Amino acid sequence: MRAFILLVALSWMAGACATARAPRPPGDPAALRYNISCSLGAAPALEVEVVLLPGGPRDFLFSQPGGVDTVWATFEHGDVRALRVTAGGVHVPSAARFLRYRYAPEPRHRGQGPGLFTGMGDEGAFHVAGRAYLLRPRVVTPGLRVELFVEGAEALLPWAPSDGGLYHVRGEDLVDSGFHGFGGRRCLVRLEAATVEVAILGQLTHLRDADVCGWIRQAAVEVATVRHAFPYPRVTVRVVPVPGDSDAGLFGMVLWSSPPSISILVGQDASREALGGDWVAVHEMLHLAHPAMLPHVPWLTEGLATYYTELARARSGRQTAQRAWEELVAGFERGRESAGTRTMAEVVAHGDYMSTYWLGALFALHLDVELRRVSHGTRRLEDVLESLGRQGQTSTLGAFGVAVDAVAGQPLFDSLLARHLPRPAFAELEGLLESLGVRQGPQGVTLAPGPAGAMRQALDGERPDL
Ligand SMILES: [Zn+2]
Repeated sequence: MRAFILLVALSWMAGACATARAPRPPGDPAALRYNISCSLGAAPALEVEVVLLPGGPRDFLFSQPGGVDTVWATFEHGDVRALRVTAGGVHVPSAARFLRYRYAPEPRHRGQGPGLFTGMGDEGAFHVAGRAYLLRPRVVTPGLRVELFVEGAEALLPWAPSDGGLYHVRGEDLVDSGFHGFGGRRCLVRLEAATVEVAILGQLTHLRDADVCGWIRQAAVEVATVRHAFPYPRVTVRVVPVPGDSDAGLFGMVLWSSPPSISILVGQDASREALGGDWVAVHEMLHLAHPAMLPHVPWLTEGLATYYTELARARSGRQTAQRAWEELVAGFERGRESAGTRTMAEVVAHGDYMSTYWLGALFALHLDVELRRVSHGTRRLEDVLESLGRQGQTSTLGAFGVAVDAVAGQPLFDSLLARHLPRPAFAELEGLLESLGVRQGPQGVTLAPGPAGAMRQALDGERPDL
């Protein structure tokens, strides 16, 4: 099958050469073709060939430069010229027909956290971010059509290939081309109306591939406790084992490719029990429940994902409501310690990971409580996510606020934010927990039962009808 695909690819390239001087037919916006050849092993590398058609882009850049110094341009009569990558990009002479370059991450990058972008894996698998190795047009014109073909190793890119193994994408899909996995093994999570394709990019000592897929399935199912249905028909998850570690989710990230792509580092020696207690996979999956914010608003998106990471696991029954609130209270305390005397405005502007995530989670909790309060329990923060989900994959902070107000049926978002921003971070915490019947005392966290805890029970799913 692969040989057949390669033949098709070669004949396509030959056709491109033969018709190089012909004007591009109107209505055919195909302008770029990438042939990617992956070699695995001790020194993995990606050989990339970009087939240029007349009238197509000539200014290219790496979204994350540093991995390639020289791009080789081939001209119609076979002349080859080296183009130095400067300021992350190259300008290609209009007569060039092909660009070729090699991306080979340095060994020191492999197997380490930062290598999640620049390349990591073992002899049979390789993980890299598209932004590190794919040269993309500096300016993407609307309608620019791009094809990618991968050979040498089975690939898991954010996009689904056609039957012939060719990826048809839009030029804008290359702006953030997500995470890419090569080699390794695959498993598939089928949900009611969605699939999650999982690549396991390395060896695991205690886990079967089915365990890994079960872990990802559980995370995906938990997203459905927040959204009516899994938010995308198909997403991809790359799981990269890290030698010498037995924790489950060591680190995870969503890239806002279209559709979004997720990668998670997992300890190579992790056990099934460790997977059961993991929060990283569901946290990353929960990012799919909100739109990508442009420009980014990390305190809000991380706050939403952090808030729901605890509630979704309680709603699914993976952890008790008691445990969920203990985790939330402990997280808020860590965030407050990290924020010190700073206001929310200061944390939002210059915050560290701990204070930003947990301050955002506190705001998400407050927003949810207020939405439920003003609507007498008929509306909730999930309705905002549902409404934004219908509007598209991206949004803005302003549109988020508009959606909150629409769900509330009254102005709410700006005034709540204005209340938090100038005050010391976490100043609202005690009052909010008190209103929910969540108390922290010498015996730890206690939850008020009965009517006093009704709102809290509605949040964590103990009484989802409320
Ligand atoms: Zn996150």
